[in-house]
Amino acid sequence: MSAVTPLFSYRKHWAARFGAAPFLPMSRAEMDALGWDSCDIIVVTGDAYVDHPSFGMAIIGRLLEAQGFRVGMIAQPDWTSAEPFRALGPPNLFFGVTAGNMDSMVNRYTSDRRLRHNDAYTPNDEGGQRPDRAVIVYSQRCREAYPAAPIVIGGIEASLRRIAHYDYWSDQVRRSILLDAKADLLLYGNAERAIVEVAHRAAAGQPPGTLRDVRGTAFIHRGALPEGWLDIDATEPDRAAHPSRHDRAKTLIRLPGYEQVKSDPLLYAHASRLLHLETNPGNARALLQQHGDRAVWLNPPPIPLTTAEFDAVFDLPYARAPHPVYGDARIPAWEMIRFSVNIMRGCFGGCTFCSITEHEGREIEEIRDKTPGFTGVISDLGGPTANMYRLACQSPEIERSCRKLSCVYPDICPNLKTDHSSLIHLYRKARELPGVKKVLVASGVRYDLAIRDPAYVRELVTHHVGGYLKIAPEHTEAGPLAKMMKPGMGAYEKFKELFEKYSREAGKEQYLIPYFIAAHPGTTDEDMLNLALWLKNNGFRADQVQAFLPSPMALATAMYHTGRNPLKGVHRNRGESVFAAKGLKQRRLHKAFLRYHDAENWPLLREALKRMGRADLIGNGKRHLIPLWQPAGTGASGGEGGRRGRKHGPQTFLTQHTGLPPCAQTLPPTQNGKAQLADRRPARAFTQGSPCGGGKRRGGR
Ligand code: SF4
Repeated sequence: MSAVTPLFSYRKHWAARFGAAPFLPMSRAEMDALGWDSCDIIVVTGDAYVDHPSFGMAIIGRLLEAQGFRVGMIAQPDWTSAEPFRALGPPNLFFGVTAGNMDSMVNRYTSDRRLRHNDAYTPNDEGGQRPDRAVIVYSQRCREAYPAAPIVIGGIEASLRRIAHYDYWSDQVRRSILLDAKADLLLYGNAERAIVEVAHRAAAGQPPGTLRDVRGTAFIHRGALPEGWLDIDATEPDRAAHPSRHDRAKTLIRLPGYEQVKSDPLLYAHASRLLHLETNPGNARALLQQHGDRAVWLNPPPIPLTTAEFDAVFDLPYARAPHPVYGDARIPAWEMIRFSVNIMRGCFGGCTFCSITEHEGREIEEIRDKTPGFTGVISDLGGPTANMYRLACQSPEIERSCRKLSCVYPDICPNLKTDHSSLIHLYRKARELPGVKKVLVASGVRYDLAIRDPAYVRELVTHHVGGYLKIAPEHTEAGPLAKMMKPGMGAYEKFKELFEKYSREAGKEQYLIPYFIAAHPGTTDEDMLNLALWLKNNGFRADQVQAFLPSPMALATAMYHTGRNPLKGVHRNRGESVFAAKGLKQRRLHKAFLRYHDAENWPLLREALKRMGRADLIGNGKRHLIPLWQPAGTGASGGEGGRRGRKHGPQTFLTQHTGLPPCAQTLPPTQNGKAQLADRRPARAFTQGSPCGGGKRRGGR
């Protein structure tokens, strides 16, 4: 691999003399105004162009600009013709193609594979402004527009589809997106280092398609391995892929090929496990996956940026607003983050269903001074997780050699530092800034970590909760929690205890809002029933339901597709099988359990409870889950997800707390013998005016 070069130590490209643009140009007229005759790099993106570091295209564009390149932006082009891709002329170096901040299929379809009518990354929340499989389509149009221009693909869609992957929407294993997009190079993960190196080397006469030694990239390989490389054949589960004495930088793990994983779910699970074991930049080896007579070669992941590099990336001269071409149109994703600050990137939790890979830095003064409409309230000081700021492995050496999939599962690793004092200090500094009246934490709190440091919980609860704090137990039952790599409910109860104690001490009436997920692999009907009973007994109602969405390459998706558990070793004759709710009917039932209080779901739930031998939970008493009676005009839609006339927007799970205390009486035990709490009073939703329901959208599901 090429040596790690500090991000801002490259000699700037000659075009640095043009200086920073107010916005990266989206038209020839803007280029003319800047005095540019051409662009060095043109970014094509599926999102509207918002010049803010929460948007991938802005980070990459501004970073390349800071390196001296002239960067143009083609955002949400009409993909039915190549003409919009000619808007800025041919790029001198390459097209950079991304689907945007989300995979285009996740963006466009619900977890029930229904077309969404909205798109938070588009002006006025309008759906239909990007194609399915945007990276492939945009790459084709770029090639039609300028056949000689190299194409570099990146962003979450390219990243999560870099090897053969299960595609939920077509219900089949697709080959690497590199082959379908016919791209010269694929950048995966956080791409700052890679894109900067690729751009400088392209400017120096090495086209992207010839680069073979850049970390965080993938390319098509043909023929034999280069000299000096050790080829470890792991194409069968019981073949060794163990560390060897050979130089890791010259070791390659051969995954089962596309044709193999396509036809054999066990090999798919095996390949998924191998890939996830090779994700620590400190020890990951290169991977190779055969696709017919070609192979996809994955270099090891990028070396993370240093704090100083991060700060510099987020200090670039962003306009911190949507491009003026959008006028007064509302872009919901921008509205959501315009007053929030990202303080960390990535997550060491390893939740199997999650594919968060890219997040950004910190800059309250910039918001205060530059963002129109700022009233002094920072809506979120957080990141993928609210409280992983500066928590890390106690030893860089140990971290470099670690091969675990999570630092916090099945227990918090003894090597993980869980002292939250840096975050407490950051919160205090943020509160003290002139012009800042309130700093909220809206990102999900990892409560198993938080309870290790009660001083943090006190700080959070006393100063940073706006009445409600969302947390994500995701489930109550051990089976699904184990498949998610999430902590048990004991940690939730402990956190709740601290939350309530410190809320009382602060004289505040505040509530926890837990999020749950339906139909995750490993979840049985009885698990969902137990969750529904927990919700009822604790006085929670879900406004909408979040069902598991098998996003490309997630470990949970491998479970969903293969019925195997890749968290453990995958073997031909042993290994753990995993149940997954797949058909629409069963997924709908799982969602209906989460919304047990919705009369539309009662016929479906009655039928299920009878089949499960739990008819004792049907009745008109307080101890029953659902009543015998059916309100007139309800129940004909087929249950959750089958309601008519509803737009299928983001599947945000907005839980309402009824405001009632948990009950002390117990319901009859469920079939697994667990005692259940009974409610004393029927649950009721909050009245209008409750701040409930303002939850931040969760990405990547
Ligand atoms: S904290 Fe534990 S799991 Fe995390 S990197 Fe260090 S040794 Fe590995």
